[in-house]
Amino acid sequence: MLYRKDDADKMHLSIVIPTYNEKVNVGKITDKIRSVLAAEDYSYEILFMDDSSDDTPTVLKQLTRQYHEICYIHRNNERGLASAVVEGFNQSKGDYIIVMDADLQHPPELIPLIMKRLTRADIVIPSRFIEGGSDGGLNWLRKLISWTARSIGRLSIKRLRPISDCTSGYFGLKRQVLTAADLNPIGWKILMEVLVKGNYESVHEIPYSFVARDAGQSKMDLREQLNYIKHIARLVVNSPEDCRFFSFCLIGALGVLVNIACFAMLINLFQLNGLIGSLGASLLAMLHNFIWNDKVTWKRCQQPIGWRRLIKLPMFMTICGFGIALTALFAQIFIWQYWNIYLGQLTGIIIATCWTYTANSRWTWPNSVKDNAINHNRLIVTQEYAGKLS
Ligand code: UDP
Ligand code: MG
Repeated sequence: MLYRKDDADKMHLSIVIPTYNEKVNVGKITDKIRSVLAAEDYSYEILFMDDSSDDTPTVLKQLTRQYHEICYIHRNNERGLASAVVEGFNQSKGDYIIVMDADLQHPPELIPLIMKRLTRADIVIPSRFIEGGSDGGLNWLRKLISWTARSIGRLSIKRLRPISDCTSGYFGLKRQVLTAADLNPIGWKILMEVLVKGNYESVHEIPYSFVARDAGQSKMDLREQLNYIKHIARLVVNSPEDCRFFSFCLIGALGVLVNIACFAMLINLFQLNGLIGSLGASLLAMLHNFIWNDKVTWKRCQQPIGWRRLIKLPMFMTICGFGIALTALFAQIFIWQYWNIYLGQLTGIIIATCWTYTANSRWTWPNSVKDNAINHNRLIVTQEYAGKLS
């Protein structure tokens, strides 16, 4: 149910704040935002999206009586920070929307700058991880978890890669970013959902210091961390370009099994010597990988025509050959340095996988590059430090 004191007011900025048991913080953040925005010439509403099981709704009701720009929606028996924010998007009225936490870890002093930057970028993200920013408000364990989560997200989803703080809970956007975006997030990371599904061309990051919680307790727990993985998996499954890399890796792993099975067959059944057996097994495994990549990984790409069709297999084999050489090179470098050889082989495999994937996208199935470009060519990401744009 929506409690709004003065619906007649025309709002331009909507500040959406998800709350779960934040009775000690909602008053403080309201005062802070009101004083920061007192001198600004745009009108605003603060919309608290509340799932609390404590007295927070009572405090919020009090605030709506006191200030006409405050409103709140209390959801009974529902949890999920990101889904609360999506509901906030739907219920809010502003042409610009800012999402932030209630616990004062996101400094309200940045709101005027976010608004200014929204005049030239579609999405503005205060970032902890660009020059001038810091995540000092977290202990070392939370920093490690946060780094791992961010890295998994950026490795799995291409669209998140250029954004330094893609898991931030503090960001601003123009309402048009949400046009036709079918937002259906799991868990907390609403910004990731917006970055993957939103309709935008430019993102701007500004540095800020994420400070320690003012009062109350963090609600982050293991369940939310598992939800994060589920959320990433769902975003990847629904994105053909991100699925492609996983399919390529899976086929590569299957290829290793095929290689070993063929090797055993060639030396035991066909009585070939070890070297010939090994070469034969590698060729058969490459053929296996080629067929599956052609039928599955790059299935949706427009197939090359004419002579390009004929060179697909030799091109694939040449690129994979370079990959094998790269792996051997890394193993050798580790041997020279007296480092662990298994680590060298693993490093080589990771680098060779990235090389073979990128090179095959570009040369063996070249239309997949064009296909990617539809989404990403026009994305401009900028960052700034102390007022300077990158
Ligand atoms: N929150 C929420 N629903 C939840 C969990 C948290 O609305 O299920 C709110 C919480 O009240 C706070 C923000 O989301 O305003 C961030 O939560 P928290 O500070 O616990 O997360 P952390 O900063 O520790 O990552
Ligand atoms: Mg917090």
